[in-house]
Amino acid sequence: MNQTKKLYLDDFTKNTCQAHVMHAFREKDRDVVILDQTLFYPQGGGQPCDQGTIQNDQTIFNVQDVRLIDGIVKHFGVFTSTPFEIGQEVYCKLDSERRMLHSRLHSAGHVLDKTLYELGFNWIPGKSYHFPNGPYVEYSGNLHNVDIDKLKNDIENLCNVWGTHGMPVTSKVVDKKTVLANEQLIRRCAFLANLPDNKPIYVITYGDDFASPCSGTHITNVSEIGHIMIRKIKESDGTIRISYDIRSLPNGE
Ligand SMILES: [Zn+2]
Repeated sequence: MNQTKKLYLDDFTKNTCQAHVMHAFREKDRDVVILDQTLFYPQGGGQPCDQGTIQNDQTIFNVQDVRLIDGIVKHFGVFTSTPFEIGQEVYCKLDSERRMLHSRLHSAGHVLDKTLYELGFNWIPGKSYHFPNGPYVEYSGNLHNVDIDKLKNDIENLCNVWGTHGMPVTSKVVDKKTVLANEQLIRRCAFLANLPDNKPIYVITYGDDFASPCSGTHITNVSEIGHIMIRKIKESDGTIRISYDIRSLPNGE
């Protein structure tokens, strides 16, 4: 089967699209829909999946879960009436509030990376978790001689200066050779070994020059995140975990 065209990588602001049904079937008591292209982000990279609806004149498919398996995006959910037939044209609509929250939480992780870099910490980015229930980013490094309260304040201040003044977020597509030729990109890529050889790689840049390979969804300006608050900074066995939260600005989303 052809791989799904992943529209969610190309335009972070789009919430609706047309698509064609490639497959609609049942799998382990759940209905599954596969489209030729989709805006629904599949859970991965520490970011939860999108939800929303896929519909035509006859039926609505409520999307509850989305997974990426071998390049194919599987939408799991429930039909309100008869299932789709192969080849039908359908209309996809994201739960845009949910998407926006997840993009803000995920982008806050990139802003934290940039903040630490600007503050002179050479920690290597590792695992990240951008779910609403306790998001965090992890780094290899240690907190010897680090004043944690001061670091918390410094991070929050810098994040919120960028949030207040705004900072554009841009995306471009490169190949693996380009990533391997750029030391900055190599440093920020915890999953370098897994980067595909012959597929486009999405590189996201925060501000003028802070770039990292990433296949998540992002906001288009740091000002959309709102306030970033650092809940906790702790280290165990060379892994530093920074737990954070975000809060909408009064006039924001
Ligand atoms: Zn990312």
